[in-house]
Amino acid sequence: MPEYLGGCSCGAIRFATSKTPLRVGVCHCLDCRKHHGAPFYAAAIYSVNDVKITGEAKAHKGRYFCSECGSSVFAITDDEIELHLGSFDEPNLLTPTYECWTIRRENWLAPIIGAEQFERDRD
Ligand SMILES: [Zn+2]
Ligand SMILES: [Zn+2]
Repeated sequence: MPEYLGGCSCGAIRFATSKTPLRVGVCHCLDCRKHHGAPFYAAAIYSVNDVKITGEAKAHKGRYFCSECGSSVFAITDDEIELHLGSFDEPNLLTPTYECWTIRRENWLAPIIGAEQFERDRD
């Protein structure tokens, strides 16, 4: 496996993993929208032990961001870590296979072809 690298926009926080994610998904829920200030959220989810984080991140309700530049980089829930897809250095490394909270998807956004669709949380 190649090493996947990413981090915040100023470079103070970096992450690295060579593992395959447990899953890759998109969420349209209000909570994700508000946190990211973006119309939807995408992340690759790994076992927390499979990702190396460097730099000091600040946290708010399990979401970690850079105190220098403000980028939201990852989130931790129990033993899983979500690496924000937009934080990876390269585009097109990973493709979402499901979408959550599609009832809140913007009308101008089409469903991702081939991705499993959930009206609310994942079943
Ligand atoms: Zn930063
Ligand atoms: Zn969400």
